[in-house]
Amino acid sequence: MKLDVDVLRYLSKEDFRVLTAVEMGMRNHEIVPSELVDRIASLKHGGTYKVLKNLLKHKLVHHDSSKYDGFRLTYLGYDFLAIKTMVNRGVFASVGRQIGVGKESDIFEVASEDGTILAMKLHRLGRVSFRAVKSKRDYLKHRRSYNWLYLSRLAALKEFSFMKALEEHGFPVPNALDCNRHCVIMSLVPGYPLVQVKELQNPEMVFERIIGLVVCLAEHGLIHCDFNEFNIMIDDDENVAMIDFPQMVSVSHRNAQMYFDRDVECIYKFFGKRFNLSFEEQADHSDSAEEDAEDSSRPCFSSINKTAGFLDKELAASGFTRKDQADMDKFIEEGSDEDAVSGDEEDASDSTEAIVRDTDALHLSEQPEQIQEGDGADKDETRQRVAASRHESEAQDGSEERGECEEDACDAELVKRLNKQRRRAIAAAHGGRKALASRNSYKDKGGRSSHNSKIQKQLSGW
Ligand code: ADP
Ligand code: MG
Repeated sequence: MKLDVDVLRYLSKEDFRVLTAVEMGMRNHEIVPSELVDRIASLKHGGTYKVLKNLLKHKLVHHDSSKYDGFRLTYLGYDFLAIKTMVNRGVFASVGRQIGVGKESDIFEVASEDGTILAMKLHRLGRVSFRAVKSKRDYLKHRRSYNWLYLSRLAALKEFSFMKALEEHGFPVPNALDCNRHCVIMSLVPGYPLVQVKELQNPEMVFERIIGLVVCLAEHGLIHCDFNEFNIMIDDDENVAMIDFPQMVSVSHRNAQMYFDRDVECIYKFFGKRFNLSFEEQADHSDSAEEDAEDSSRPCFSSINKTAGFLDKELAASGFTRKDQADMDKFIEEGSDEDAVSGDEEDASDSTEAIVRDTDALHLSEQPEQIQEGDGADKDETRQRVAASRHESEAQDGSEERGECEEDACDAELVKRLNKQRRRAIAAAHGGRKALASRNSYKDKGGRSSHNSKIQKQLSGW
């Protein structure tokens, strides 16, 4: 996916304010009604509609009028919110080239103020189909519907928490530096993914080290679950590091044995093929071999002493912290209500109050830190000497592309409509006349409440 951060420099406080309003609205709506965006952003004189046009032009939001007139964030819009927050926090100051693309993430180099190069991983869970995600990812649990913002944020948070815990226990992993929304900032691992390495001076030793890591993880209560040549980095001195943690599970997971054996098998297979290592069991190990009781060298899940540490317990078993898990459970329970909301536009929980409550509960926007008044934000804007390399990455997910085509097609019509809405809002603001609802308009019952002013406070920094 293209990440043209140059645009960031030209975005105003109002742009970010409206973008944040769309994000907040998405807590309860897949498509956020224009009127609701306007109400949350609360810009004077119908300013929201003008800003929405600009955000649309830069593909930071997507317009949808199939049910009612509304908007949703695009991944790019979400990227910008996360990047802006990180830059405001002083984590990094510029974004560089893309160094990795997975089916569920994009990885970029970023540079801090003092020139240190770091890695930024942007999770993109909506890229694969929900069914595939749900079957693989235990953090979705019983949730029936999903929201890619939420899923990607959760994946990032899980990865960040696991990376930090592993680092603290001496595992060779990147240094986890910060996390916001779907974005994780970590140290740049020197070297290359093992898959790119054709020759090793000491393949046996590297192999032992890597298998040792799988065992050591299990001793600490964890299984990587995607432990393969793509997620192992190796440097010129043949030091190894592991990356990519959102799918890790506890050794008490019901499929733990299978995941463990699969991780081990991946390494055996790769080293057998790439570096011609031969293993005792290969004679009686055909492709379908699962367990081999006679193979004394291959690590066996059941005989591993899993008492070196209880990282899985510390991380609340295949979750992250207890609090995150609790927040998430709450969200999952509310998920069923949310399903109803998207089908029933008149549900009471559409109110602004509900958005504030839910947003607060989930910390979707970390207002106190990310929204700094006045000079902080201004200073940061000038600090954004963002030198982007324009990367055409792999294809985005189909729906996004489809969305963008539709976007182009109805652009002119939309601009007309936005102008109309803007005029109406201006008229309403001036004359005290109620804004007329458009044909597709969304009926929102939430009034301007005290909660509303809370949002205004939260938004005031953009
Ligand atoms: P995915 O979940 O999409 O597989 P990964 O975390 O495995 O994402 O990262 C994809 C690629 O990006 C890796 O194979 C590696 O080349 C690169 N990469 C990821 N994290 C780092 C890092 N901290 N330092 C250097 N390269 C990295
Ligand atoms: Mg990976």
